[in-house]
Amino acid sequence: MIGLISATAAGAAARDRLAAAWPERTRVYEGPVKEAVPAAFAECEQLVCFLATGAVVRLLAPLLTEKAADPGVVCVDEGGRFAVSLLGGHGGGANELAREVGALLGAEPVVTTATDAVGLPGLDTLGLPYEGAVAAVSRALLDGEPVALAAEVAWPLPPLPVADDGAYTIRVTDRDAVPGEREVLLRPPSLVVGVGASKGAPAEEVLGLIEGALREAGLTARSVGRLATVDAKAGEPGIVAAAERLGVPLVTYSAEELAGVAVPNPSAAPLAAVGTPSVAEAAALLGGGELLVPKRKSAMATCAVVRRPARGRLAVVGLGPGARDLLTPRAAAELRRASVVVGLDQYVDQIRDLLRPGTRVLQSGLGAEEERARTAVAQARAGHAVALIGSGDAGVYAMASPALAEASDDIDVVGVPGVTAALAAGAILGAPLGHDHVSISLSDLHTPWEVIERRVRAAAEADLVVTFYNPRSRGRDWQLPKALAILAGHREPGTPVGVVRNASRPDESSRVTTLAALDPASVDMMTVVTVGNTATRIIAGRMVTPRGYRWQASREESK
Ligand code: SAH
Repeated sequence: MIGLISATAAGAAARDRLAAAWPERTRVYEGPVKEAVPAAFAECEQLVCFLATGAVVRLLAPLLTEKAADPGVVCVDEGGRFAVSLLGGHGGGANELAREVGALLGAEPVVTTATDAVGLPGLDTLGLPYEGAVAAVSRALLDGEPVALAAEVAWPLPPLPVADDGAYTIRVTDRDAVPGEREVLLRPPSLVVGVGASKGAPAEEVLGLIEGALREAGLTARSVGRLATVDAKAGEPGIVAAAERLGVPLVTYSAEELAGVAVPNPSAAPLAAVGTPSVAEAAALLGGGELLVPKRKSAMATCAVVRRPARGRLAVVGLGPGARDLLTPRAAAELRRASVVVGLDQYVDQIRDLLRPGTRVLQSGLGAEEERARTAVAQARAGHAVALIGSGDAGVYAMASPALAEASDDIDVVGVPGVTAALAAGAILGAPLGHDHVSISLSDLHTPWEVIERRVRAAAEADLVVTFYNPRSRGRDWQLPKALAILAGHREPGTPVGVVRNASRPDESSRVTTLAALDPASVDMMTVVTVGNTATRIIAGRMVTPRGYRWQASREESK
């Protein structure tokens, strides 16, 4: 029984909603809370108190005995915004109750026990088909009970707090198994079925052949990731229908590509018909992998099954300029999805709280860029889900290019854009980027100064708004004055210049000045410098670059 206690009218209203929803499970304790709480504590397995946590703590303190015996207690605040699991989170079921109450009242469940607080991935949210005891295994994970991971197939999973051994198991398998009582089967799309068919082969025949092959090999159709065949059969109705019924894409390859794949069972018939000695085996094997079912035939169709090697996943994630609310939800999701995070130590510190328990963090200091890129790619190639992180946008003067220069096509790559410094600074300065603009890094560490200077000159001549990244460091102090001088050759001394240091970080500072007045000594590596074009104005202290001269003029005229 769940005892319900409230003190105020708002509390009573929420209490009554719970009581109405769960008439069999709940009992309302009226009267002064000083008496109601102890009475409910003695009589119920669980309590929901529509009271401040402090008040409940004081009332409960003298009553507590031991973890195993005490009821689970949930507190709901006066505003009905939070359902706090206060006592007996696991044993007393208060964590689960907080979630249930939260769902019913539209309140946020607040759970502070270690595993829950950091947000475990739900087994039903991994994007893989699953079977078996999902509720029981999820609960075991949440309660911190040992859950073993048996990965028969390597697959890029998010970090799961799993043990070597446990009463509960998560099995990653493409085998046709029946899940045990305390087991969840996750089905990775690890199988590729190569198919061939004569013209007009019925869908039933193709499907029957595939299903028979899988069954005899002890494999599950739920792990078929795709069908593969030769280009000439891309529209063959029986094959197309079979892919549709299995709910997987059909990929096709040219006869030349297939002819180049070494197969155990080549034959003359397809060579004559479509120009390759093998369709089913070659199409299944083309991306690499292990041939589990060699070619088998029915009257009009052929099929072969390959287990493809795990495809790792490399997410290149921009963290934004600093502030947490400028880190996109997608970036946060990728960080939680990764089991390996690679990045500069200071960036890792910035997002450590977002990582799930069990995430492997490979951090390194400044400068080790290529090593970081190589590490990230190597981890992905080993089949892991990897997040390579960078500040701002990870593709702007950052890790994306060295990483992708290393990467081969045997991994999946996902880019998550971030708010780059020029944009963060632009928003602070006003609207400096309202017309054509360019970013130029003044770091001549990897780029010869002549190249940089040529680009600055071109930007000056083209009247582009220019944002300088890496504008100045202790050892590099002459480049910024030089670049500004080039721009001054084409722009008035009064041209607005915005200087933003540590955009969106706690010690953010910014100022708007002019080409003539800017003191380069006030600029460092935490700063971007945005120089306006010949139309940029300072209006009410803000930097404004008009959208377009003609457009602006016509607006003026029509006023
Ligand atoms: N990938 C990053 C840029 C890396 S280059 C991005 O997209 O923002 C490093 C340079 O970026 C620094 O020298 C500085 O010029 C600029 N920068 C990065 N973050 C900044 C911030 N929060 N405020 C001001 N400038 C920043």
